Amino acid sequence: MNGPIVGIDLGTTNSLVAVAGWPNPTDPPRVLADNAGSALMPSVVRFDDGGAVVVGSPARSSGPAHTGRIVASVKRLMGRSLADAGPDLPFLPFEVVAGEGDTARVRLPGAGGRNVTPQEVSAHILRALKERASSALGVPVERAVVTVPAYFDDAQRQATRDAARLAGLDAVRLVAEPTAAALAYGLGTRPQGPQNIVVYDLGGGTFDVSILRITPGSGEAGSGKLAADAFEVLATHGDTRLGGDDFDHAVVTWIVARALDANPQLPPPDAQSIGRLKALAERAKVELSSSESSAIDVGASLGGAWGSVPALTLARADLDGLIAPLVDRTIASCRRALRDAQRQMNGEPISAVILVGGATRTPLVRERVGQVFGLAPYTAIDPDQAVALGAAVQASIIGGGAGTAQALLLDVVPLSLGIETANGAFAKIIVRNAPIPAAGHEMFSTQVDGQTSVKLHVLQGEREMVADCRSLGEFHLRGIPPMPAGIPQLRVDFAVDANGLLTVSALERRSGKRLSVQIVPHHGLSRDEVERIERESFANALSDMSRHRIADLLANSRLDLLWINRQLTRAGGLVSAPQRAAIERGAAALQAFIDLAAADGGGAGVDPDAFHAAKEALDRASVPLHEASIKQSLAGETGAGGAGTAGGAGGTGTAGR
Ligand code: AMP
Repeated sequence: MNGPIVGIDLGTTNSLVAVAGWPNPTDPPRVLADNAGSALMPSVVRFDDGGAVVVGSPARSSGPAHTGRIVASVKRLMGRSLADAGPDLPFLPFEVVAGEGDTARVRLPGAGGRNVTPQEVSAHILRALKERASSALGVPVERAVVTVPAYFDDAQRQATRDAARLAGLDAVRLVAEPTAAALAYGLGTRPQGPQNIVVYDLGGGTFDVSILRITPGSGEAGSGKLAADAFEVLATHGDTRLGGDDFDHAVVTWIVARALDANPQLPPPDAQSIGRLKALAERAKVELSSSESSAIDVGASLGGAWGSVPALTLARADLDGLIAPLVDRTIASCRRALRDAQRQMNGEPISAVILVGGATRTPLVRERVGQVFGLAPYTAIDPDQAVALGAAVQASIIGGGAGTAQALLLDVVPLSLGIETANGAFAKIIVRNAPIPAAGHEMFSTQVDGQTSVKLHVLQGEREMVADCRSLGEFHLRGIPPMPAGIPQLRVDFAVDANGLLTVSALERRSGKRLSVQIVPHHGLSRDEVERIERESFANALSDMSRHRIADLLANSRLDLLWINRQLTRAGGLVSAPQRAAIERGAAALQAFIDLAAADGGGAGVDPDAFHAAKEALDRASVPLHEASIKQSLAGETGAGGAGTAGGAGGTGTAGR
């Protein structure tokens, strides 16, 4: 097969196809447009009667007659079960039902109530892109590099690959979107040393930020070929429900409030009027990316009762005020990604910030992103095209295009992969953030004499126990030669390939026999779930830490009280009555925390900060008692538990802090 390999950005809102090194190996990457000159293909599919399917702009601009036949944003369902997709359901513009094995299916009430899989919907988009590329290049296109979000798990990547297969395309490689964007960036400026690159991607409905490290391979000067560069995703954060559409909603709310100020009697806008208001809002928002103010003629556009609403003026500063809280959320993700990546950045600065997605044209976004990374974003690449152009670069490298850098892509495993062990514990075989391709293995044996098969439970997650991790599926190893229990040596190998897909193989080492591995299908992990799992392991680390702290506080506070009670008996007469009362109050308060923590097992319900504060308050109140005790000791009146105990109390005080 010698035709071109194209690069495809299969997006939530829009998709693109690009090619590099074609027909001449030195041709730069370019996106392929439709006959009307448009490069963006809306990721929208309409299912007509008689099996006809309409894809792209005509599907998106379908009128109300086509209600219940249109599918948009299907990427949100790829490789996910109905349960996984739960939080997204209210935001999807179509009905979702459970298919086989609880996989999410799209229901089309307007097309006879038939169900289609997300893979089929994506396949229609991919087929349309394939046809566009074939006609633009004049040769059949059968192979593609397809981009996926960096956080896509095994099931989501499999689903993407299946969609390509359904479209008659061989997905020769799946590449992480930020990696593709960085590849596009790497075109003009070949780094001299390792570089840390930020890819900030804000589209219509999703947001992601990734921090990548590019390590250049050793170049072979003058050879026309540059050696492998490693692209490593160090950290990725984001919000699957945040984008330019939310900016539009903020503007719609502003318009409605202004219209009601002018005429409090206005009826609420109907569905059609809301659609028009949204279009007006988006137009104003886009205009404000290049001008300081925008006129919004609500009356003329909506007519009817709303016809009397006067024209409004939205200034850039007004828009900035409306969208600032949304932009702030993206900035918080940027800070988290920076914090996560810091350790691997070796103290080196961020050397470039790349913008991806239409909404990054918003001036406030550019300003705030520039501030958080201390660097003006790089804008030479069209933010809509960066991912597709990068995919095309990777495609031409795979196709052996001369004169191109041989970029080696090092993406990472988003969550640890492992298996359940006998006691319900999770044994990690490939750990989170391992660069892919990654491999690992584990040895097992049988538990019963003559056992010929073993069931392995494969999981993904960061917690210690199986119950807290996500089940990916079961693998049945069959064909183990019958031997006494514990004698077979079963070596199970995990491999995550360059596309991020997991395969499992197994061998019985004594007999050298390869075992057949039957996979029981699994569901995908949603992005929200990846984040939830991360959050939980973090929250648990915190609660583990606070439990530890409470245990220390409990031990030290008991010692403090013991000492104070002794000294009150011994030297209590040397402090004033109010000082003694303060000590007794403090001791009672601390005793209450001790009782609570002791009653509550690990002390999970006790606030360690409040406990610590009570201990400190008693430490302060008992200073006069310390002084009196020391004085008494110096005077030679050492009673039971004298200076030695006082020293011990000093020690416990420090340990508690
Ligand atoms: P994408 O999903 O990457 O195609 O991005 C689509 C989003 O980008 C939509 O919310 C658009 O309104 C927004 N967008 C496109 N052009 C601009 C612009 N010039 N200024 C602000 N937002 C824009």
